[in-house]
Amino acid sequence: MPGGPPSDTLPAESGPAASPPARSGESPLALKRRARRINRALAEQYPYAHAELDFRNPFELLVATVLSAQTTDVTVNLITPRLFSRFPDARAMAEADTAELEAIIKPTGFFRAKTRNLLALANRVVDEYDGVVPGRLEDLVTLPGVGRKTANVVLGNAFGIPGITVDTHFGRLARRFGWTDSDDPVRIESDVAELFEPRDWTMLSHRVVFHGRRVCHARKPACGACAVANWCPSFGSGETNPAKAAKLLKYELAPGSEELLARLRAETHRAAEIRMESQRRTS
Ligand code: SF4
Repeated sequence: MPGGPPSDTLPAESGPAASPPARSGESPLALKRRARRINRALAEQYPYAHAELDFRNPFELLVATVLSAQTTDVTVNLITPRLFSRFPDARAMAEADTAELEAIIKPTGFFRAKTRNLLALANRVVDEYDGVVPGRLEDLVTLPGVGRKTANVVLGNAFGIPGITVDTHFGRLARRFGWTDSDDPVRIESDVAELFEPRDWTMLSHRVVFHGRRVCHARKPACGACAVANWCPSFGSGETNPAKAAKLLKYELAPGSEELLARLRAETHRAAEIRMESQRRTS
């Protein structure tokens, strides 16, 4: 929902509405095996999965993640180059003029609330952490506008500390896969953590979110074109006809995007760069 609604009350980080739980009577061991099979299939489908927010350091990722609430990563990526050239670190952002900051981040929606959060966050990083973004969950969640989801994104991607990122896509897919029956992000995180080794958590999060954005959409899942259909108890909750399902796919999996997909698969180490080029061309 690009731009978000015009309200200035930024919703707290939370989970999506409930979907039916899946596959009753499955033993914990069978569930774990099936979950790992799904993860392997997603790894084959998305060898290029990565954080879709552009960043060069923990501060940039923290700010970009705060800005991504109620908007798309693509929208955030369009404004962050200007934002970070003007305010490259916590000290510069702490002293930012409110009106200037609001004007730069306006396209991301909820810009007044986000500006307040960013100013408070930057000031706290300067005052409490000497201008350096802390690398511990318990510290990150004390920063204004930062919940567990944002903290896990920053830990997993900027600090290399394993984390499961429960956003709206991850929660929806975890329920469709039958990995959890909860809508509570903290419960979902702990249910999924039981099924995988910590070393897999960060990449698993990227793959599941990639799948949610491209294939297993909230309203029209493309079941007939889904790489994990064989292991998904919710197969059939969306379009099962392969030709019709293929038309529902998005981004590099969308019909007509074969060249982009081939480049991403051939140059997985440059995936973020290739995605950025493609977004710049289409924006
Ligand atoms: S089979 Fe359908 S519900 Fe299951 S992951 Fe694939 S698209 Fe989603």
